[in-house]
Amino acid sequence: MFDIPFLRPNLVKKEKFLSYLEKIEATRIYSNYGPLNNLFEKRVINQMFDGTGAAVTVHNATIGLMLAISQSKRPQGKYAVMPSFTFAATPLAAEWCGLEPYFLDIEPENWQMNREQLEHTVRLLGDQIAVIVPYATFGTAIDLSFYNELIQQGIPVVIDGAASFGTITPVEATHFGKGFGGAVVFSFHATKSFGIGEGGLIYSMDQDLIKRIRRAGNFGFSSSRESVTQGLNSKIPEYTAAIALATLDQFKAVQENRKTIYEFYLHELLQAGLLEQGWSIQKLQGTVVHQFISILSPGSHSNREVIELLASNSIEARTYFSPACHQQKQFQGHPHSTLHVTEYIANHIVSLPLWEELDERIVQRIVKVLGSLGKENTE
Ligand SMILES: *Cc1c(COP(=O)(O)O)cnc(C)c1O
Repeated sequence: MFDIPFLRPNLVKKEKFLSYLEKIEATRIYSNYGPLNNLFEKRVINQMFDGTGAAVTVHNATIGLMLAISQSKRPQGKYAVMPSFTFAATPLAAEWCGLEPYFLDIEPENWQMNREQLEHTVRLLGDQIAVIVPYATFGTAIDLSFYNELIQQGIPVVIDGAASFGTITPVEATHFGKGFGGAVVFSFHATKSFGIGEGGLIYSMDQDLIKRIRRAGNFGFSSSRESVTQGLNSKIPEYTAAIALATLDQFKAVQENRKTIYEFYLHELLQAGLLEQGWSIQKLQGTVVHQFISILSPGSHSNREVIELLASNSIEARTYFSPACHQQKQFQGHPHSTLHVTEYIANHIVSLPLWEELDERIVQRIVKVLGSLGKENTE
């Protein structure tokens, strides 16, 4: 046991969703895109996306990625082009769709898929690309105009936005994904900032795409209950929708709170001068509702050393996403570009706790331990 665990999920309390549960008992509708689910989807579109586009809930983001990829991909294509620096769910979803992941590197500062490599790969692979799956790394917004152009050229794009629910873009100050012509997949897993247990949501400006995904998520059934497309069951129960509605009701406060804790970290890192001593943080786009905070250890120190140092001070930290996908057994055979940045970051990334009850004092304690790295024997 650690004094300071890495995660301390804090889902909405039962008092906040009891009234929604009573509605389930009144209607006796328990699933199949019931009234609470429909209300949740409608509220997300109205409150988060200014009434534009369409959304469908899914049982988790992994199934969401599978559905979005299978309903977007070019039938003759072979590859799903994606960064290696992502969660295993991204390449797994592509594999379930019969595609081969093709891994690209990330950029050294914002940790997003390398743009130059992507442009090169688009020229190199041409029609063999079935879909491009960028990852909005750790909740950052990404420049969607670039990907909208690829869609215009006929190349499907599905964004893994698992950690980006609640992210506000820098220039337009709207929700990340708004107006995007491809699918954006968000996760509502308990460990994500909009945590409801298990769940997710797919958003797109393309209403027809969302309609097809909704159908595929319900056994591929047409209105006459005939299976007409490769489907599965991705529906959330009304109980989950009840929790999602209550979570949405209080999400503003969660957003504010997590932003404050992130700012504590920035303040302490600056105060301690760590950013001048070789530590670095991700260059983010927009305002992110942080699930945790990621930092790179100085070049001469691996993340393993940092994790051990923190553990010896009873602080739990992780190394998302290390090993990177191309380093994992399941994905080792897949083609990839040079991955120097991914491999460097996989050796230096440290994910630090950012749960909702963290106060300034605990953040100070964590940053102080980081500052003692390499100094243990010289004091
Ligand atoms: C969490 C996460 C997923 C999977 O989400 P689930 O809802 O747990 O299936 C996929 N991709 C990324 C990048 C994630 O962080």
